[in-house]
Amino acid sequence: MSHFTNGDTSSKIKAIETAYRGYKFRSRLEARWAIFFDTLHLKWVYEEEGFDFIDTPVVYCGDEILYTGYYLPDFYFPDLNYYVEIKGSTATQQEMYKCAALSHIKDCTVFIFDSGMFLPGSTGFDFDAPYSSRFQKGEFSDYPMMWMKCDKCGKIDIAFDGWVHYSTQCRCYDDNNRKKTGGSNHIDICSAYVKALSARFEHGEQP
Ligand SMILES: [Zn+2]
Repeated sequence: MSHFTNGDTSSKIKAIETAYRGYKFRSRLEARWAIFFDTLHLKWVYEEEGFDFIDTPVVYCGDEILYTGYYLPDFYFPDLNYYVEIKGSTATQQEMYKCAALSHIKDCTVFIFDSGMFLPGSTGFDFDAPYSSRFQKGEFSDYPMMWMKCDKCGKIDIAFDGWVHYSTQCRCYDDNNRKKTGGSNHIDICSAYVKALSARFEHGEQP
């Protein structure tokens, strides 16, 4: 996937280990995402468990392979059964394989956010909020998945293109009642990005 060059690009140049809330993140971008998740009151754990894959079936762009290797995922969301991987630049094929293998082994959904972090609606591009690839049951799909919040029930999810009616966490809207406003550009989502993007880490600790 392509990525934008606006927003927080510091991690593309050099990953700076960053302390936040007692965790040592491998990059400032990861720490910014942690602030984003906290602002939305999402429950997460960081680098909780590593996985050793041996001949794990993976489907990537139509190719079936058996993946063997080690993987320590970034964030796990116990309430959603999602893993989220943060990349400072476009994910490599090996990284894609790891995420697909994890989704197979753990029967969960895995996302790689490799678009950088930027404010929804600030780019003028089609993908108007930070976006991710999605992995389910060992299979990669190149849909742009975005954090969104439903303006009816308040559920937060990662949904296709940030549209509320694609969320699997709420059933407030359907295809006849399509809803993007109040999705990836929900005021709370935008506020969380503002807080994460404006955090300062110069003195090492809290934003
Ligand atoms: Zn809802």
